Amino acid sequence: MEKRDELYAGKAKSVYRTDDPDRFVLLFRDDTSAFDGEKKEQLNRKGMVNNRFNAFIMEKLEQAGVPTHFEGLLSPTESLVKKLDMIPVECVVRNVSAGSLCRRLGVEEGQTLTPPTFELFLKNDALHDPMVNESLVVTFGWANTAELSQMKALTYKVNDVLKSLFEDAGMLLVDYKLEFGRSEGAIVLGDEFSPDGCRIWDKATRKKMDKDRFRQGLGDVIETYEEVGRRLGIQFD
Ligand code: ADP
Ligand code: UDP
Repeated sequence: MEKRDELYAGKAKSVYRTDDPDRFVLLFRDDTSAFDGEKKEQLNRKGMVNNRFNAFIMEKLEQAGVPTHFEGLLSPTESLVKKLDMIPVECVVRNVSAGSLCRRLGVEEGQTLTPPTFELFLKNDALHDPMVNESLVVTFGWANTAELSQMKALTYKVNDVLKSLFEDAGMLLVDYKLEFGRSEGAIVLGDEFSPDGCRIWDKATRKKMDKDRFRQGLGDVIETYEEVGRRLGIQFD
């Protein structure tokens, strides 16, 4: 496999074409951003930590029957993935109240949500990723009804797998964001799963162990990501 030109540089990752038209290389950079790119920093080792973290989680999900784009690690900061036709909608599941849910509804942070909630947001930085619903997604053609129901079922399946994985390692999976795409007529999990796109709290102390450390200036961002990984059994360099 040969890495070719850069197709797209996002806020945290870059996508490269390869000599295989059906495969891309994802490069995990150290760039870290929050609040739609308003707060930006380079965090040493973040690309490597998130690349390895994502590989570990994608493999767990694949073993549990969730189709993912992940094909393998290429280097400390690069992974080979299936090329997807990305659906521009973020799927968010919440097990515990935090973040925009608390701001939007005025509910207190830290409430257990039963059953877990499922929300959809349009991926659009200029509009600050507005919340949408199934009707809007279908009407505007971002995904059809069958695709939406697969995305929802897979997002909940991910919750079943990952909630217990984190719980067994002494952590709470508070919420997370997933992105899906189309490949050969199937809905496949794309993008990444890392502490950048989810909230993880220590089960006993409720210490924040995710990107909120960066958003809220709590410090030790990457050290804490690595601690989460180590608790799950991931080895970093
Ligand atoms: P953003 O675009 O939100 O700034 P990133 O910096 O993470 O995000 O950039 C990665 C981009 O690559 C995202 O737009 C994501 O939707 C896209 N992407 C992730 N996985 C795939 C894939 N398998 N095929 C095509 N595009 C992908
Ligand atoms: N999230 C993300 N990318 C986004 C928006 C949200 O990864 O563009 C993740 C976020 O890290 C959290 C979950 O999705 O784990 C829910 O985010 P929320 O709606 O609470 O928004 P936030 O408060 O993070 O802006």
